[in-house]
Amino acid sequence: MKGGKQEILPDGRARLAPYGLRKIEATLIENGFDENDIATVPPMSLSKFIGENTKVVGITAMNTNGLTYCDQTFTALVGFGSDSYNSYKFRSLMFDKALRSTRAKKILGGAGAWQVQGAYCRDYFGIDTIVMGEGENVVVPLFQQACEGKTLPPLVEGTPIRDETKIPCIHNGSIYGTVEISRGCGRNCQFCSPTKRLRRDIPLTTIEQEVKVNFRTRKNEGAPNRERTIFTPTGHKKKGQLDQQQERMIFLTTEDIMLYQCRSPDFLPNTEAILKLIKLLVDLGVETFQPSHISLAAVAASP
Ligand code: SF4
Repeated sequence: MKGGKQEILPDGRARLAPYGLRKIEATLIENGFDENDIATVPPMSLSKFIGENTKVVGITAMNTNGLTYCDQTFTALVGFGSDSYNSYKFRSLMFDKALRSTRAKKILGGAGAWQVQGAYCRDYFGIDTIVMGEGENVVVPLFQQACEGKTLPPLVEGTPIRDETKIPCIHNGSIYGTVEISRGCGRNCQFCSPTKRLRRDIPLTTIEQEVKVNFRTRKNEGAPNRERTIFTPTGHKKKGQLDQQQERMIFLTTEDIMLYQCRSPDFLPNTEAILKLIKLLVDLGVETFQPSHISLAAVAASP
């Protein structure tokens, strides 16, 4: 998790956190866990929050052992050794004194979970349970068992929430203003894992709520040095101006924005639904949005 001053609240909690972690936080709060018993914190605040009464620590990690394409390629090209930055940071986190010495159960999920699912890695990093795949359906009983001090299964396979209206909204801000608009893809490229996931489009009502949550928590009012001039690729800008732009920027996660609400067996874009989505964002005051993926195939099919 990024550790810039503005991303951390004065008490040490995360002002902005990884989106997946926010989904798990929301799932727990909406399923009987008291919000006051949950703290979402960045690595540097662990020692402030892990104590005798801590029962369980949930960890999200995107690239635990640096085994993704980018890490492998760039580390080989420009790295100063065999360890990638991601794997170095993950190891630092897992060997953090507070985390290492606690008796609380450690549950790890996220995109990098597969890299540490083996018995050796689980043992080396001191992880009690690895959650693979979507976590919302499985974390509640798992966290309950952990709170009761029960032995946890080493590996849990997540299952998809089939009804997209039941996917919980985040309650607090996500890093980069991330808002999910779809899960899964369905194009069935043979090398791809997201395509194995059940395809769902997130309803506009959920998207609206999550954009509002992000606007609320990403307000940079009162941030220091707003008059400072910063050089950017598009010229000199005041820091306050950049902060404002950032507040109104949303990152849309999707396997392909062009497939939003797509109902065509040939994967032709549902232009009406995409325009409705963009209109919603504009009406909410989004100034810039960045989709995580957009396919040229859809553009070529429906120019
Ligand atoms: S279009 Fe992209 S996300 Fe979809 S199956 Fe192919 S590679 Fe995977």
